[in-house]
Amino acid sequence: MSDHDQDAIGQAWEAVLATARRTAAEGLVVGTSGNVSARVGDLVLVTPSAVRYERLGPGDAVGVDLGGRRVFGDLPPTSELPLHLAVYRNTPAAAVVHTHAVHATAVSTLVTEVPAVHYAAAMLGGPVRTAPYARYGTRELADGMLAALRDRTGCLLRNHGTVTYGATLDEAYDRTAQLEWMCRLWLTASSVPGRSPSLLSPAQLHEAREALKGYGGPG
Ligand code: 13P
Ligand code: ZN
Repeated sequence: MSDHDQDAIGQAWEAVLATARRTAAEGLVVGTSGNVSARVGDLVLVTPSAVRYERLGPGDAVGVDLGGRRVFGDLPPTSELPLHLAVYRNTPAAAVVHTHAVHATAVSTLVTEVPAVHYAAAMLGGPVRTAPYARYGTRELADGMLAALRDRTGCLLRNHGTVTYGATLDEAYDRTAQLEWMCRLWLTASSVPGRSPSLLSPAQLHEAREALKGYGGPG
């Protein structure tokens, strides 16, 4: 590996750790729950399994290839490696964030698709689906997630949590935060006795998606 590659990997690892710590600091996970990864070329950097993020430092990087073979690192990779690799093999993702965010996980026990209470759904590609329940760390869970992610950049895992991906760690993280916020919004609105929230139509969501393409751009 060249010095240049080493630098790129070192920087990407710091960014993975910063994002993982943020999921804990902002209450999207508790203890050693959740995991984060980033792709650097053909290499995937992943958080190790069952280690609290504040204990991890520059020397703890775990790198695997797209087939899941460990390229470097002493600690075992996250148990959700099949899920992370499935995203990289099948989408243009450069980063993946998995959390157990409480409102999103609550909603995963109630619906097969998050009702479109807000145009934030458009940021994830449309109404967010719930993947069927399968035990954590399994190929079955990864397969169900992949189907739920079709034309989306995030999904719920039934009775488990969230998965989002993006072109950067910040983008993947922000999508998780938006998904959690939208699930909280739906739970709040739908808990008013005798009322049910109004929803956006597919056409309204499509319109929001088109508009968002220019969001934050010039003019
Ligand atoms: P790891 O500690 O192995 O990453 O597992 C946490 C988790 O959220 C499993 O779904
Ligand atoms: Zn999990």
